[in-house]
Amino acid sequence: MATKKFNKKIEKRREKNWREIPIGGMITEPGNSKNYKTGSWRTFRPITDFSKCIHCMQCWIVCPDDAIIVKNKKKIKTDLNFCKGCGLCAEVCPVKCIEMRLESEFEKKVKGKNEKRYKTYETIDRN
Ligand code: SF4
Ligand code: SF4
Repeated sequence: MATKKFNKKIEKRREKNWREIPIGGMITEPGNSKNYKTGSWRTFRPITDFSKCIHCMQCWIVCPDDAIIVKNKKKIKTDLNFCKGCGLCAEVCPVKCIEMRLESEFEKKVKGKNEKRYKTYETIDRN
């Protein structure tokens, strides 16, 4: 009797095997990455000084998130909805006009009974 109870307890604690866990991590449609805004993962935010930018597109080539927006062969902004703040763009920029700044610098303080800090999710950097 005691063994039956013990076995039940063990069964409850047992990790599910691969046949029992729910199916996850599936890509159900192509091109759906646009639906997942990865900008909230960011610790550092790239800030571009457009007065120094020579529009060489090095940042556009290396950006893993396609977050560098180009118009008429010129960089016009960074899409902060998708930029994860990896800093590759700042690393390759030949004129060093991209500065990686701590995301916390852009947090807004909301005053009230329970004072809180909120991140600002602006969609673009300076342009
Ligand atoms: S790498 Fe630098 S100079 Fe070149 S387009 Fe990007 S920001 Fe401008
Ligand atoms: S930091 Fe630069 S390279 Fe990295 S995701 Fe953001 S824009 Fe792209």
